[in-house]
Amino acid sequence: MTQRLAIPTTGRDAASVLEDARAYIADDADYKNGRTWSMVYWPGEEHHHLTEAANNLCLAQNALNPYAFKGLKRMETEVVQMCAGLLNGPPTTVGTMTSGGTESLLLVVKTYRDLARARWPWIRRPVIVAPKTIHPAFDKGAHLFGVRLRKVPVDADGHVDPHAVRRAICRNTVLVAASAPQYVTGVVDPIPAIASIARERRVPMHVDACFGGFILPWLERLGVRMPVWDFRVHGVTSVSADLHKYGYAPKGASVLLFREMRYLRHQFFASTDWPGGIYISPGLPGTRPGGPIAAAWASLLGMGEDGYLERARGAWEAAEALRAGIRAIPGLRVLGEPMSTIVTWTSAEVDVYAVADQLQAKGWGVDRQQHPSSVHCTCNASNLPSVPLYLDDLREAVAHVRAHPELAREGDAAVYGLLARVPLRGMVKSGVLDVMEKMYAPDGGTPDLDGDDPVQRWATRALDAVDRVKGALRRGR
Ligand SMILES: *Cc1c(COP(=O)(O)O)cnc(C)c1O
Repeated sequence: MTQRLAIPTTGRDAASVLEDARAYIADDADYKNGRTWSMVYWPGEEHHHLTEAANNLCLAQNALNPYAFKGLKRMETEVVQMCAGLLNGPPTTVGTMTSGGTESLLLVVKTYRDLARARWPWIRRPVIVAPKTIHPAFDKGAHLFGVRLRKVPVDADGHVDPHAVRRAICRNTVLVAASAPQYVTGVVDPIPAIASIARERRVPMHVDACFGGFILPWLERLGVRMPVWDFRVHGVTSVSADLHKYGYAPKGASVLLFREMRYLRHQFFASTDWPGGIYISPGLPGTRPGGPIAAAWASLLGMGEDGYLERARGAWEAAEALRAGIRAIPGLRVLGEPMSTIVTWTSAEVDVYAVADQLQAKGWGVDRQQHPSSVHCTCNASNLPSVPLYLDDLREAVAHVRAHPELAREGDAAVYGLLARVPLRGMVKSGVLDVMEKMYAPDGGTPDLDGDDPVQRWATRALDAVDRVKGALRRGR
């Protein structure tokens, strides 16, 4: 175990601290040169500096108290107003900023649970109905707030059948949720059809546009075909949109908007008996950093419609070029439909995870998905120059794995293959928690990638066992 770091006895000089910080992050994901897909939505240096300056201006401020920090509250109100306009909310639209998509969605679960408690007090076991592709923040929210999440199956491309949504709604359903688009394959769920079912059943509906909120409106203006999905759809009662994705704000900013105050009211929390005084908070945190609010506000104003349109055009161009290039590689298939800037590819001929390992070794950020095994790429204008390089490396990686199918049982591919294939999901969860324990051990050790990792060895052995059992079952049939 490495030695535990202690707080220095005397404070170090600023220059040497920053020098260390720079050295620490030197080998982190290379997001400025388009080699990561997702994680960072890089707007370019100039815009970055604007949001950085606004962030620094309000770095120490605390949005917990809107009376003390009226200027910050004004920025939050204006962010909500600008977003309500973008998402075609009626004049009654209200909302708050949150720390990110996850907080927005946790609040969605809490708000509609509490609305149901007030409106339908006889419901003992509240249920939220959503397609299987809904973001896991809903699982987290359901877990935290004692709600059941009933998931509606989707096909391999990620399409949900609205009739299946209708069948999943029961007397205990307090909310129907869907995505625009869902993250997995980038398909925009059929919001109008689902919303009309929700309305018919008198159930509110949330649209998770955490990903799409700040890209789909611009793509629509550029002529990309997609279903209507925002507040224009009757029956949509709330929308979440992440400013820290295509809003090009720094991390820590999302908005959650409701059609009317009668929904938002149930998001608020008030504690009235604390000796410390009356305590109110609009979201999950207590202390709320001012930086992300100011930076998001500056981002919307600094970018403007023309800035967003220009970046959306670049992101779309990158996505279309990537899709076309992948379709031209024999053995690969693009999942979903071209209605967003998400490109997900899969293969029935080569092991997807082994190809992913090859790409990672070539310095690409790789986002592995399961059921089916696939790789996800979120496209941004910043990825445009690297698309041809990615396609070259992908073509090469596919050829290499075709020639070396044994790579599927080595390295990370073995682990991911196992995690996707093992039917005992409890065992998978326990394996994943083992990995997290390693990551958060006192020495902060991350799993090493040289194949000597105990989790990898375990995975390789378990994968063999699964295949042996499957083989035996096939022969027995
Ligand atoms: C990113 C994302 C979220 C979660 O947002 P975080 O900011 O990562 O917490 C939720 N839904 C969708 C569709 C997303 O893409």
